[in-house]
Amino acid sequence: MMAMAGTTPLRTVDSIQDVRVSTASVWSDRVWQLDVTLPGTVRSDVALDWGFALADGSRFTDPRWTPWREAAKRFLWTLRVDPPAGHRRARDSSLVRAFQHLRVLIRWMAGEGYRCFVALDRNAAARFLAIVKARPGRKGQALSGATLAGYASLLNTLYLQRDRLQDAPTEDLLAADRLRLLTGRWRQRRGSLPSTPDDIAIPLVSAAIRLLGSPADDIIALRDLAHTALRDAASRQLDQHTTDVCVRSALAGFIFSTPAREERPWRMDPVTSLTAGELLVSRLYDACFIVIAYLVGARVSEILGLKAGCIVKHPSADGTETFSYMSGRIYKTADSPAGQPHRWVAPAPVVRAVAVLERLSEPVRRCAGRDELWLMPVAGGDGSFHVRRSANLIDRLNGPFATFINLPLHDGRPWHLSPHQGRKAFARFVGRRDRTGLHALAAHFGHVTRVMTDASYVGTDFELGGLIDAEVLDETRAALEELLTATQLAGKAGRTIAARSRFRGRTRDGDVKEYVDFILRETDMRLGVCDWGYCVYRRESAACLGGDSGPNPVLRTQSTCAGCANFAVTQKHRAVWAARRQRNSDLLVHPALDPESRVAAARVDECDRILTELDQNQDKNGSSKQHALDAA
Ligand code: SF4
Repeated sequence: MMAMAGTTPLRTVDSIQDVRVSTASVWSDRVWQLDVTLPGTVRSDVALDWGFALADGSRFTDPRWTPWREAAKRFLWTLRVDPPAGHRRARDSSLVRAFQHLRVLIRWMAGEGYRCFVALDRNAAARFLAIVKARPGRKGQALSGATLAGYASLLNTLYLQRDRLQDAPTEDLLAADRLRLLTGRWRQRRGSLPSTPDDIAIPLVSAAIRLLGSPADDIIALRDLAHTALRDAASRQLDQHTTDVCVRSALAGFIFSTPAREERPWRMDPVTSLTAGELLVSRLYDACFIVIAYLVGARVSEILGLKAGCIVKHPSADGTETFSYMSGRIYKTADSPAGQPHRWVAPAPVVRAVAVLERLSEPVRRCAGRDELWLMPVAGGDGSFHVRRSANLIDRLNGPFATFINLPLHDGRPWHLSPHQGRKAFARFVGRRDRTGLHALAAHFGHVTRVMTDASYVGTDFELGGLIDAEVLDETRAALEELLTATQLAGKAGRTIAARSRFRGRTRDGDVKEYVDFILRETDMRLGVCDWGYCVYRRESAACLGGDSGPNPVLRTQSTCAGCANFAVTQKHRAVWAARRQRNSDLLVHPALDPESRVAAARVDECDRILTELDQNQDKNGSSKQHALDAA
C-alpha cells in the first residue's frame, strides 16, 4: 500500500519508491507535480523537474547521477516529513523554493567536479555563496537579500539534516555568525520593505475606485454585447471575418457614461473589436485587485482565493448599524493548505469591487460550475479552468494598468508595484490617524478604523495587526520629534511643550531621536494623532472624557480638542484650522442659518485662537504673518 503524501517519515517507509509526493506524483517520477492549493499559483509553479540540465550536457535524471539524485530527493522530502527541530513542515511553496536553490547548488557542484553532498565543506560553501552573490537577480537587478539568505539557509539545513540522510555534509558549512549575518540582514531589510509612497498610492487607488464606478457597468455591458454577437455568429455558422464585422457593429454605437461629478464621458474612443473589449475587462480586474489590496490589506493569495457571495454583513456591538465584511481564507499562517477562514472589514469600494468581480466572472463560473471570483479558462483551450496567476497580475499592474490610468512617476521614475505593497500601504493608512494627505481615501480608512475598534470586531490576522501597530509607532515617533523641535505650537499642551522643550528650533538630530526613543521605551506613550492636531493624552485632563485606553472617539471633535489641556497644534495642521475658519465665516453671512450662527461664531473664535497662537510664536521667530494672509 502506498504511503500518504506528506505524512510518512522516510525511515518508516519500506520502499522509498512507494512514497506518494502529491495526488499526481510518486517518488520515482521525473517531475514531482505538487498539488495546486494556493490561489494565484498554477500547475507549472509547483512542478519540480528532476531532469534539469547540468553543465556537461547531461541530465540529472541520467543513470550516472542516480545516487546523488536520490540523496537530493531524500533531503528535499525530509523538509516536508521530518524537518529540523524547531522548523515547520515545509509547505509546497517552500519545497519549490528549496528545490530551486538545490538545483543551483547541484549544478555548481557538478561543474566543480563534486558528486555528492558529503564532499561539501566550509570552503566550498563560501565559494558557492560568492558565486551566487555575483549572479544577477530577476530582470538583471542585483540578487535580493532574500535569495542570498535562502541559499545560506539551504547549506545550513543540509548540515542540520545530516542524521536523517546517508549523503550530507559532515561539517557545519557556515560559521554561525556568518549565517546570522546573512539571514539577519535580510530580516532587517524585509522589515523595511517599501510601501507604495503616497504620491503613487493615492492616484492608484483613486483611479481604481473611479473605474469601478459607472465605467465598470459600461465595460461589462460592452462585454455582454460582444458575447451576444459572438453567440449569434456561431449559431449562424459565420466565418471569422464576418463574425468580426458583426462584433464591431454590435459595439459601434455604444455611448460611454459620464462618471459622477465629472463633465465628460470617461472614454471618447469607440471600442471596435473583441480584443479591445477584453483589454478593458482586464483593466477592470486589475482595478478590483488594487481596491481590495489597498483598502482591505489582504495578501495576494487571499484576494485570489475569494469566492462569489463573500461579502457578509454583521451588526455593530451596539446594534445601531451594520458593517460589511469580506469573508475568505488566510493561507500563509494556516495549519492546513486549505487555509483558515477569516473576515476583513470591507469599506464601500471593496463591496463594489466584489460585486463587479461577481458580474465579470459569472459566465466563466457558470461554465466551470465553480465559485472562485478570479477563475479563467486555461490558455490553449483544453476546456479547463484555473485561478489567475499572481505573477501575471503583478506584471499587468506595472505594465498595462499603470499606463491605462496614467500612473504618475515617483521622483521622476516609474514606481514598481509589488505584491506586499497593498498590505503595507493599508497598514500605514489605517495606522495613520492624520489622514489630511489622503484626500478621497480618508473616509474609507476612517471607516475601517471605526469597524476595527468596534467591540464586535474579531480580528485574527495578527501579522496585519502588528504591521498597523508598527505604523502607529512610527507615526507617534515622527509626531513627537515634530512637537519637540517645532518653533510654533498652539493648543494648551502645545504651549507647555514649546515653553519646556530643550530641542525647540533644532533639526531632528541624534539627540532628539535618542530622547524620543527613551520616551517610547520607558513611558509606553502613544500620541493621539488626528487631522487637526496632536493629543498628548492624559486621562485626568481629557476634555473628551476618554478612558484608560485613550480618547473618547465620539466626543473627540475639533471644538472639544481646541479647549483641552492635552491638545497641541503645529504648522502642519494650520490648513485644517484655516479651512474650518473659512467655512464657518461663510456660514455666518448666510441669511438662512440664524440658529446656527452662534455655533459658527464660536468655531470662528476657536480657529482664530489657534491660528493666532501659531502666528504669535511665528512672529517671535521673525516669520511672516500667515494667519493674516489666510484671513484675507
Ligand atoms: S479632547 Fe482631544 S486633545 Fe483632549 S484628550 Fe480628547 S482627543 Fe485628546
